[in-house]
Amino acid sequence: MKKLLAALAATTLFLFAGHAGAQNYPERTITMVVPFAAGGPTDTVTRLVADVMSKDLGQQIIVENVGGAGGTLGAGRVAKADPDGYTLLLHHIGMATSATLYRKLAYDTLNGFEYVGLVTEVPMTIVARKDFEPTDLKSLIDYVKANKDKVTYANAGIGAASHLCGMMFMSAIQTPLVTVPYKGTGPAMTDLLGGQVDFMCDQTTNTTKQIKGGTIKGYAVTTAKRLDALPDLPTAEEAGLPGFQVGVWHGIYAPKGTPPEIIERLSKSLQVALKDPNVVARFAELGTVPSPEADATPAALKAKLEGEIARWKPVIDAAGQYAD
Ligand code: ASP
Repeated sequence: MKKLLAALAATTLFLFAGHAGAQNYPERTITMVVPFAAGGPTDTVTRLVADVMSKDLGQQIIVENVGGAGGTLGAGRVAKADPDGYTLLLHHIGMATSATLYRKLAYDTLNGFEYVGLVTEVPMTIVARKDFEPTDLKSLIDYVKANKDKVTYANAGIGAASHLCGMMFMSAIQTPLVTVPYKGTGPAMTDLLGGQVDFMCDQTTNTTKQIKGGTIKGYAVTTAKRLDALPDLPTAEEAGLPGFQVGVWHGIYAPKGTPPEIIERLSKSLQVALKDPNVVARFAELGTVPSPEADATPAALKAKLEGEIARWKPVIDAAGQYAD
């Protein structure tokens, strides 16, 4: 009996402590992990949103770049973190594609996290170094087919959005490419600007300024319609790749077991950030829009992740390239 009472008291204390912690949340700095290198598109989106969320929460959110293995290293790191609301993850579509691409992952994609909400869906662009010979998407396809052993395609590792887009491109033109993996497309862009790699596919949040400035070549955007931010850039469909559409959706996650009160507080804060005039304006300049409030919720992100795992599985299985 004594033992039972002691156990009950301990449980009550634990529950009370957990609850009290959630009530006062946040009491210290929060870390938001970006599973790609600094200076890239996921990093850009994260910093814009984290800045407003920091103000709303009254505590600083520090962005930590944990790049490598196509985003799976950073995701694994957050899955193992304490579920106390002080370590979060901002990841993109790669969360869904990695679930199929990797035979073994250090985390359970669907059950290893709590869901905070969707952030934004960013179009991709097919781009090349400034002096790359092909002038449009059709000539790029011909050139790649004719020079498949010497053309280099940059990506952010297996599981990255740039990897998915490259895989779709290779399947569409039935030609394998020589790929050069980076820890993120921030450093890949540096090499594209320096002429060390030939081409890549990347979010508009990393390419719009460069395409407009003429420092890289833009061939196509992966949306159904042209973008206001890049009106001269044709869609991939218009330019010769029927059905070539992909949007890089981003979401915020927390380790499994993070108290629901904390998740709710974070979702509310995310909703505030997505309505912030500066975020809206910067997103527009970068070719995207914030997710609507109803999508910046745990239920919407969970549904999106489940739907996207199912959507991309057959595409990945057809390509038949997996990682161990
Ligand atoms: N754009 C990258 C990707 O291909 C990731 C990044 O650096 O943000 O997934």
